[in-house]
Amino acid sequence: MTTSLVNELNTLATEKNSVEVLKTIAEKFQGKIVFTTSFGYEDQVITDLIFKNDIDIKVATLDTGRLFKETYKVYSQTLDQYKKPIQAYYPDMDGLEKMVTIKGPYSFYNSVENRKECCTLRKVVPLNRALEGIECWITGIRAEQSPNRQGMTFFELDEQRQIIKYNPLLPWSLEEVIKYVKENNVPYNVLHDKGFVSIGCEPCTRAIQPGDDFRAGRWWWEDNSKKECGLHSHN
Ligand code: SF4
Repeated sequence: MTTSLVNELNTLATEKNSVEVLKTIAEKFQGKIVFTTSFGYEDQVITDLIFKNDIDIKVATLDTGRLFKETYKVYSQTLDQYKKPIQAYYPDMDGLEKMVTIKGPYSFYNSVENRKECCTLRKVVPLNRALEGIECWITGIRAEQSPNRQGMTFFELDEQRQIIKYNPLLPWSLEEVIKYVKENNVPYNVLHDKGFVSIGCEPCTRAIQPGDDFRAGRWWWEDNSKKECGLHSHN
């Protein structure tokens, strides 16, 4: 992966619309491109763009085993609506069995280390499997979600993973995302109607108030500075 390729793709992203860019990179990275969804508003827009336009990009999800029933519902509705496969990745079962046997099912509330251990087993290890052999990873990141996402570009080099990341919704506002979902009849997680913005695992996510930080509803018992789960280095 080179910086010049990232620059070339960023130029493309400023000249073409998201569907055209997705089609181009689907060809360029054929068989080595994945979009990972957690079925939130943003991810549902990208899923719609890929599936409705029949673009050859693998769609995958990490099922941590601790998701909301509402998330499984929109997961199921998405399969019904588009009739396309979504590859499921499950946690590191050996590690998970050991962790829960020794520490119980709510160890993540006791320390940051325990929380990171759980996120590693349930999210990072399966993500690493989902990204094996992948050269381009599509995400639903938007710039307005946090201050440290504002300097990002459509295409970025994830140096640690040596993967190119594409963030097609980077400049979109939340209002634009919601408008797209409503106008295109895209299935969405009903928890968004109840004040949930960033929806992850059920024990670690809660609703927020208007004006709160985007991540305020995640791991609310921890210091802001420690809130990352290892999926995105810009978290
Ligand atoms: Fe575990 Fe919570 Fe992380 Fe989900 S968000 S993997 S339940 S610590």
